[in-house]
Amino acid sequence: MDLLLAIQNLNVSYGAVQALKGISLELNRGNIVAVLGSNGAGKTTLLKAISGLIPIRSGNVLLKGKNLATILPYQRIVYGISHVPEGRRVFATLTVDENLNLGGYGVRNQPMGKEMNKIKEWIFELFPILKERRRQLAGTLSGGEQQMLAIGRGLICKPQILLMDEPSLGLAPIIVQEIFRVIRQIHQEEKVSILLVEQNARKALSISNYAYILETGKIPVQGKPEDLKNDERIRAAYLGGN
Ligand code: ATP
Repeated sequence: MDLLLAIQNLNVSYGAVQALKGISLELNRGNIVAVLGSNGAGKTTLLKAISGLIPIRSGNVLLKGKNLATILPYQRIVYGISHVPEGRRVFATLTVDENLNLGGYGVRNQPMGKEMNKIKEWIFELFPILKERRRQLAGTLSGGEQQMLAIGRGLICKPQILLMDEPSLGLAPIIVQEIFRVIRQIHQEEKVSILLVEQNARKALSISNYAYILETGKIPVQGKPEDLKNDERIRAAYLGGN
């Protein structure tokens, strides 16, 4: 197995609140790894710590063995880590095209000219609706379309690792299907490794190679999706008992 990302004994606090309590996890190249957990478990904090958006108190974030401690957030995209944040965060007053152009803006490896057009064509193949709406302001898109745009923007720099924070949150079931179909496609066609944070445990387990359960800042359970699906406690707590 080719270890791409390793989190070791990570501790993160917001003042007196310790959001992550010594957690460790691994993402092998070419895998989709799910992090499941309820509200406030620390899922967003984990992704922010990996992309450098919040300081860590102790522990390591290692990319192919290299410690990222001194690497600033905007530089982490150069190292191949792209973060699709929770709640979409698209620029509402800019068009779809302009939002895509801003993916990795100012970063050394931001694609330009023909290369940029090629990547955009690929993103439009993944999400044809974005092509139709490319001149439309992002703020006028539906929630699902905004999520597609946020994912597209995260792909502009051709990342090795995509950190996805609750991509299905608040979307209609049919759109959730579409988003998960595309996550699978990104993974299969472009070999992007994905760390997927989700509350939709059933869906996340259906596409992942391995999963971690995060509960109040700790990882009490981890394993292969098929094993977790057969675990009584996991079924009761995360899969609606079915
Ligand atoms: P959600 O799905 O609701 O986003 P989550 O699993 O992503 O939940 P986090 O947002 O990482 O959880 O929050 C973990 C803990 O840290 C929670 O107890 C939360 O209240 C706390 N927390 C998060 N951000 C801050 C902050 N900026 N200041 C203080 N406490 C925070």
